[in-house]
Amino acid sequence: MMKLRVNRTDCIGCQLCSDIAPDVFGGDTEVEDIVGEIIEDNYSAIREAEESCPVGAITIAEI
Ligand code: SF4
Repeated sequence: MMKLRVNRTDCIGCQLCSDIAPDVFGGDTEVEDIVGEIIEDNYSAIREAEESCPVGAITIAEI
């Protein structure tokens, strides 16, 4: 199972992840902690957001 996590302490609120995957990362408010299971439909967008985050706050972990 894959899990998504956003480290809010590191997040600078640039909204890049929200632009890439709005269904996952929400609207225009500061990204809050998201700890959730990754569903297949969102996987490629989440991976792109992870790679694009300027501070590396998004992590995908296999558990
Ligand atoms: S891309 Fe990274 S720094 Fe920017 S809002 Fe998303 S989690 Fe925060």
